[in-house]
Amino acid sequence: MKRLAAIALAASICAAAQAADGPFAIAVHGGAGAMTRASLAPERESVLRAALTEALETGRRVLAEGGSSLDAVTAAVRVLEDSPHFNAGKGAVFTSEGTNELDASIMDGATLRAGAVAGVATVKNPIEAARAVMERSRHVLLAGKGADRFAKEQGLAIVDPSYFRTEERWRQFQRAKDEAKLGTVGAVALDKAGNLAAATSTGGIAGKRIGRVGDSPIIGAGTWAENESVAVSATGTGETFLRVAAAHDIAALVKYRGLAPRKAADGVLAKVAALGGQGGVIVLDRSGEPVFAFNTEAMYRGFAIGPARPQVMVFR
Ligand code: ASP
Repeated sequence: MKRLAAIALAASICAAAQAADGPFAIAVHGGAGAMTRASLAPERESVLRAALTEALETGRRVLAEGGSSLDAVTAAVRVLEDSPHFNAGKGAVFTSEGTNELDASIMDGATLRAGAVAGVATVKNPIEAARAVMERSRHVLLAGKGADRFAKEQGLAIVDPSYFRTEERWRQFQRAKDEAKLGTVGAVALDKAGNLAAATSTGGIAGKRIGRVGDSPIIGAGTWAENESVAVSATGTGETFLRVAAAHDIAALVKYRGLAPRKAADGVLAKVAALGGQGGVIVLDRSGEPVFAFNTEAMYRGFAIGPARPQVMVFR
């Protein structure tokens, strides 16, 4: 009996060691939209590319050291939240009343644990609040004042709401320019142990009504991760992504219909487009090959597979 147990234990340690040395990869996005080569100034493009590269390097370092995909997506999204150039964390777009309300969500593909916050106004890094909801509460989604209070109780960094205001966004707000809609951020990752995770963070849609919640903090719409299928983070007109349960639908097409992630992503984006929506998704399965799909002119995006140098792309 004892010998059998010892053999079983040795076999499972062996399997874990093997799994812990599997392929690893991370992909990120920084929003999708209608910008053209002509409308994106070269200086701005290089700043955005540098931030995406830093996010990828940060997430990849976590994975290379044997860290979890959850830690990798959290770290990558935090970098983009701290950059004033994306519509997440610092640099978030304004509501119709000139305030900032931020949303974020995260999901663990190994356990289907998930956490999210909607409409927070004082949490420096909403992705950390989402993670805290997942790990330190018995809930999945906290909204508004309750979410802000929870983050404070959990010892997360709290800021004055004015922290999120950047001059650039404020000027865009006053001009009500389309460009202000861009810049939601997200990440998907596969760690060496074979676990997938996804995370998304946004300021929402520029000029949104107070209290409006889009797809980004909704598990199954803006974010999904499931080891058996894929990890997904979406960006775009949130209302349409909500109506087709975009992230979950991609996973379901992979899982139940056996579609390749690219086909599943294209199919769901076609449904989004049929409802008048625009945007894109990043998708990763356990092969570690990221898929990017978008029906806009451009999507800020990038990936890093294993030790190879991160690649960042903007246009088609
Ligand atoms: N999906 C986000 C929202 O609707 C916005 C975006 O991705 O640009 O809040």
